[in-house]
Amino acid sequence: MDVGKFDPFDRMTFTYDKCFLCGDDLNAENTSEEHVYPKWLQNKFNLWNQRLDLLNKTTIKYKDLKIPCCKKCNGKMSALFEKPIERAVEQGYDEFVKLDKDKIFLWLNKLSYGMLFKELSLSINRAHPENGTICDEEYLSQRKMQYTFLQSILSEKIEFSGKPYSMLLFKIKPDEHKYWAFDNPFTQTFFIRMNDIGIVTHLMDNAYNENFFYEHPDMLELLNKPLHPIQFAEICAKFQYKVSLFIRTPSYILSFNEDKKPQFIFSQQMGGIGYTDWSQKDYAKVLAFFLEAWGVNFDDIYQEPDLVMSFLRNEDGTFKEISENQLKGE
Ligand SMILES: [Zn+2]
Repeated sequence: MDVGKFDPFDRMTFTYDKCFLCGDDLNAENTSEEHVYPKWLQNKFNLWNQRLDLLNKTTIKYKDLKIPCCKKCNGKMSALFEKPIERAVEQGYDEFVKLDKDKIFLWLNKLSYGMLFKELSLSINRAHPENGTICDEEYLSQRKMQYTFLQSILSEKIEFSGKPYSMLLFKIKPDEHKYWAFDNPFTQTFFIRMNDIGIVTHLMDNAYNENFFYEHPDMLELLNKPLHPIQFAEICAKFQYKVSLFIRTPSYILSFNEDKKPQFIFSQQMGGIGYTDWSQKDYAKVLAFFLEAWGVNFDDIYQEPDLVMSFLRNEDGTFKEISENQLKGE
């Protein structure tokens, strides 16, 4: 096996006869069942029959989201991040924040890449793959980098110099909706809430958006406050909209070991202006999307010329306390 020579993007080999990660041919002996969203997560939050949207406008059940994987890679992922994350989610926010963030990053990256794998395998099987917008070249080259990040799982030792990602962890007040996730493959953002843990992440921005967040004291304050789920949704909307204005392209320097596996990934720092101008009206549209579950719509939250309702801040700028019984979700 020569891992370095397997490049699924090279010939668009998103097929089920090879391991999605190392490229080994699969047979009855070495194959294992790899759910994109792990079984423990589906059990814990009863996701098996819930549906996820695909880019081709169809939906798929969580339980049918599987990717081809060999036993070896399955075992490596399990030890490296799957087990530690399962344990930490079980224990809750206070333990979860102690995890090595690189592990959380690889975990989310695997979920996101697994979705892409499924999308591409479906798209290529269809009669006219050229109709699929997901085969856009620039998009694919970014996603290829995502695959490279994942390959670090195969190396005995991988080092990231500078973080390739942004990640913010929030403490959420639990409500009856224990789980929610939103993955946007075009902006590379991923939001997920599991019980009292809220994760906001950009999977490929060299920490630019996270650093921007840290520059704002009113945002920083939110990291230490138990948030109502609707407040977490508002943060996700802000992050998502800001990222949609992000105009920088992150770059990386890679080094490989003798097996041609990536062993060192250097994320180049980005300085200077990173965003185009913010529009309150456009932001309100994104916010309305994130607040749909609470029955809040665009007209409720936006007032010409530039007023947008906030569940995080009172009019005087202080933090808004929302009790558990207020704003019951649908
Ligand atoms: Zn493998």
